[in-house]
Amino acid sequence: MKAVVGDAGPRRAGPGASDPATLEADGVSAWFGDHEVLERVSLTMPAHRVTALIGPSGCGKSTFLRILNRMHELVGSASLAGRVLLDGEDIYDRGRRITHARRQIGMVFQKPNPFPAMSIYDNVTAGLKLGGVKAGKEDKDWLVEECLTKAGLWKEVRDRLRQPGGALSGGQQQRLCIARSLAVRPRVLLMDEPCSALDPTSTRRIEETIHELSGEVTIVIVTHNMQQAARVSDQCAFFLAEQGTPGVIVEHGPTEVMFGSPQDGRTADYVNGRF
Ligand code: ADP
Ligand code: MG
Repeated sequence: MKAVVGDAGPRRAGPGASDPATLEADGVSAWFGDHEVLERVSLTMPAHRVTALIGPSGCGKSTFLRILNRMHELVGSASLAGRVLLDGEDIYDRGRRITHARRQIGMVFQKPNPFPAMSIYDNVTAGLKLGGVKAGKEDKDWLVEECLTKAGLWKEVRDRLRQPGGALSGGQQQRLCIARSLAVRPRVLLMDEPCSALDPTSTRRIEETIHELSGEVTIVIVTHNMQQAARVSDQCAFFLAEQGTPGVIVEHGPTEVMFGSPQDGRTADYVNGRF
C-alpha cells in the first residue's frame, strides 16, 4: 500500500478500492432455524449517503446489518435468501470469499470492542492484519494518523499511541473502533447502535465523525435515537415485525419525508415516539 500526500492533505491510496459503493439488498429473507426473522427486504443504500435503519427491538435490524457483510452465515442455525449487491456485484456469489466482503464492508458495534490490552496504534493496524492488507512501517504510521484523524481521535491520543486501547474512555474506544474499521479502506461502514452505550458528548462526537466520513464511505447506521436518525441520515428505512411475523420494511425514503410526512401511520407513530 502506498500512501500519497498531496496539497489538500492526506489522500486515499489504491486504485478505486476506496471509493464509496452503493449497497443494495434485493429480496433478502433470513431465518434462524425455522424462525423467519426477515422477509423479502429490499433496500438501496446509495454511495455518498447515510442510511438510518430504525424500528423497534427484535424486528431484524441487526440481522439485516450482519447479512450485509456476511456475518449472518457464521451463526450455525442461520440461513438466508435473496442477494446483496455491492456496486452491482453479489457479495454472496459462489467463489467470492467472505474476506472479500468483510474488507469492503466494515462494521462497528454497539459496545466498543477494541483489543483492550493492545496499544492504540496496534488496534488501528490490527484492522490491516484482519483484512489481509500488508503495509510497511511508514505506511502504517501514516495510516494510523489518517484513520485516527478521520475518527476524530488523533489530537487526543497522538502522544499516547503506545498506551492500551482499554485505557481510553468509552467514547474514545468507539472512535478507536471506527479508526480500526477505516484502516482497510472500506467502501461501506455499517454501524449497529454505535452510540447507545455512550454519553451525550461522546455521541455528538461520533455524529460529527459520521458526518465527515459520509463523503468517502457509504454509511448504514442502526439507531433507536430518532433525533440522531434525523440529524445524521439522508434516508431512513423503518423496520417492523408485527405479532410474530418476520421483519419487513414498512416504509423508506428521504429522512425529511420519513419524519415530516410519512405515508404509513405506523411510521408516523414510531418516529413520534408513540411505540
Ligand atoms: P433488532 O436488531 O431489530 O433488535 P435482531 O436482528 O437482533 O433485531 O433480531 C431479530 C430476531 O432474530 C429476534 O426475534 C431475535 O430473537 C432473533 N435472533 C437474533 N439473533 C439470533 C440468533 N443468533 N439465534 C436465534 N435467533 C436470533
Ligand atoms: Mg439490534
